[in-house]
Amino acid sequence: MSPSNTSAVDVNPADAHNLRLLANTHPAEWHNPAPRNPYNLVVIGAGTAGLVSAAGAAGLGARVALIEKHLMGGDCLNYGCVPSKGLIRGATAWADVRDAGHYGIHIAGDLGVDFAAVMERMRRLRADISHNDSVQRFTALGVDVFLGTGRFTGPQCIAVGGQTLRFAKAVIATGGRAAAPAVPGLEAAGYLTNETVFSVTARPPRLGVIGGGPIGCELAQTFQRLGSQVTLLHRGAHVLNKEDVDAAQMVQQAMRHDGVQLALEAQLRTVTRRGEAKVLQYTDMAGQSCELVVDEILVAVGRAPNIEGLGLEAAGVTFDPRTGVQVDDRLRTTNRRIFAAGDICSRYQFTHAADFLARTVLANALFMGRQKASALTIPWCTYTDPQIAHVGLTEHQAAAAGIAIDTFTQPMAEVDRAILDGETAGFAKVHVKKGTGTILGATVVARHAGDMIGVYTMAMTHRLSLGALAKLIQPYPTQAEALRKTGDLYNRTRLTPRVKKLLTAWLSWQRHR
Ligand SMILES: Cc1cc2nc3c(=O)[nH]c(=O)nc-3n(C[C@H](O)[C@H](O)[C@H](O)COP(=O)(O)OP(=O)(O)OC[C@H]3O[C@@H](n4cnc5c(N)ncnc54)[C@H](O)[C@@H]3O)c2cc1C
Repeated sequence: MSPSNTSAVDVNPADAHNLRLLANTHPAEWHNPAPRNPYNLVVIGAGTAGLVSAAGAAGLGARVALIEKHLMGGDCLNYGCVPSKGLIRGATAWADVRDAGHYGIHIAGDLGVDFAAVMERMRRLRADISHNDSVQRFTALGVDVFLGTGRFTGPQCIAVGGQTLRFAKAVIATGGRAAAPAVPGLEAAGYLTNETVFSVTARPPRLGVIGGGPIGCELAQTFQRLGSQVTLLHRGAHVLNKEDVDAAQMVQQAMRHDGVQLALEAQLRTVTRRGEAKVLQYTDMAGQSCELVVDEILVAVGRAPNIEGLGLEAAGVTFDPRTGVQVDDRLRTTNRRIFAAGDICSRYQFTHAADFLARTVLANALFMGRQKASALTIPWCTYTDPQIAHVGLTEHQAAAAGIAIDTFTQPMAEVDRAILDGETAGFAKVHVKKGTGTILGATVVARHAGDMIGVYTMAMTHRLSLGALAKLIQPYPTQAEALRKTGDLYNRTRLTPRVKKLLTAWLSWQRHR
C-alpha cells in the first residue's frame, strides 16, 4: 500500500451520523492500493454509474479500479435521491397530520414540526444506507478503490494521487453538479444547492427557491411543509415544464394548497444583502418589478456536467461544456477504449438510468456487445405530493415529432381506492399510436405514481398493446386499478359500429332461439 494521499473531506454537521457516512464513503485513514496495472477497466467517479460499472465488472472477474474524489455513492446517496426522499417522508407525515380532520381524526395539543429532528432522521438513514456504496464493500468485491481526483494523462492512462493507472477500457462516470445562474449579486449573497441544503440544521423561516424543475419542486413543497415560507421563482408558465401540462398543473395546485408562493414567468434580475436577509429583485409575468426578501436561497436551475480537470483532451475524448461527454448509441466516446455512463453523458439524469446505462457499458466495453442506450425504456418520477411518473413520449413531444396519437385518460376520481384514500387528484393517461394499441407514452399522477408507472414501462418494453392491460387483474381496491381501466377505455374504442351491430344481432338471436 502507498501512503495515504487522499484529501480530507468534510460533511456538515460533523455529528455521529455524518461521521459514519464519511467512514463508509471517504474514510480518513484510507490508503490507496498499489496499482495492479494494467486494468481491464478503470472507472472515474463512484456515483451510481461508476459503482454499477465497477461492481459488475469485478463480479465478472475483471481487474477493476474505481476512482472517487469526494464521497462514494455520488449525488444519489449523499446529495440527491436518498436525503431528499428522507426529508419528503417527514414532510408527508406532517401533511397527513395536518389533513387528518378530513378523515374524522381530530388531533389536539401542541402540534408542530421538529425541523432539526427531521433533518437528523435523514442523516441517520443516509448513513445506514451508505454501507452499500462504501469503500469497504467495494474493496471486498475485489475492486481497487482509489480516493482522489482522476485525470487522463493519455489515451490509455489515468493519474490519481501521484500514481498512474493503465487500462484496456475506461468508464467516465463523473456525473454533474448544480448549475449556477449568472445573476448579479447571487454569488456574493450566497446560496444553497443540493450539495449544501441537506446540511442545514435550522429551518430557514423564508426560503426562495430558484427553478421549478423536479428538484426545485420537490424541495419547495418539502420545506414549505416543514415550516418554511417558500417562494418559488420559475421562468416558465408552469412548473415542471418537461412534464404533461395537466400533470404539472395538478402539482402546482397541490403546492399552492400547501402554501408555496409561485412566481411564474419570473425573471430574476439581481440579488443583494440587506443585513442578514437576501433580497431577490425580479420581474413578474406582467413585467412589473418585484422584490422578495428571504433568509436563504436554494438554486435548482439544472445541472452542469463534471468535465473540468478530467484531461479529456489528453485522452482524445470530445465533450461539450453544457451537455457533457459525447457518446454514440453504444455509449462509446471518441476514444474507442473509453465509455461513459450516467449524468455525464445522458439527458436521462436519474439513478436508475445511470444504473442501466452502466450495464450497457459493461456489455459493450468488456464483451464487445452491441447494446444500444436508445433501446432502454426509461421511466422517471418527480416525488412531489402527488407524484408525477412518466415514461415515453408526452403529447407535446408526439406533436413535435409529427406522430398522430390517441389518448386515454382515467381520472383517479373514478377509482374506488383513490376515493377511499381521499387521493382523487390525479390520473393515468396513455398515448397510443393513432388507431392502434401501441403505447408511446404514459403519465400517472397519484400519491404513489412512481410505484405504478412500472406497468406501462413493462408494457412498452415488451411491446404489449394497451388492450392487453385490460387483462391485467389488479387486486381490488387499489389505485393501480386505474392502469387496467386505461386498457378498458382503449378496448371500448375497438367496439366499432359494425362490431356493435353484429353483437346486438347475436344477442337478439340468443334471446329468441
Ligand atoms: C436533489 C436531487 C434529488 C434527486 N432525486 C432523484 C430521485 O429521486 N430519483 C432518481 O432516479 N434520481 C434522482 N436524482 C438524480 C440522481 O442523483 C443522478 O441521476 C445520479 O446520481 C447520477 O449518477 P452518476 O453516477 O451519473 O453521477 P454522480 O452521482 O454525480 O456521481 C459522480 C461521481 O463522480 C465523482 N467525480 C467527479 N469528477 C471526478 C474526478 N475527476 N475524479 C474522481 N471522481 C470524480 C463525483 O465526486 C461523484 O461522486 C436526484 C438528484 C438531485 C440533485
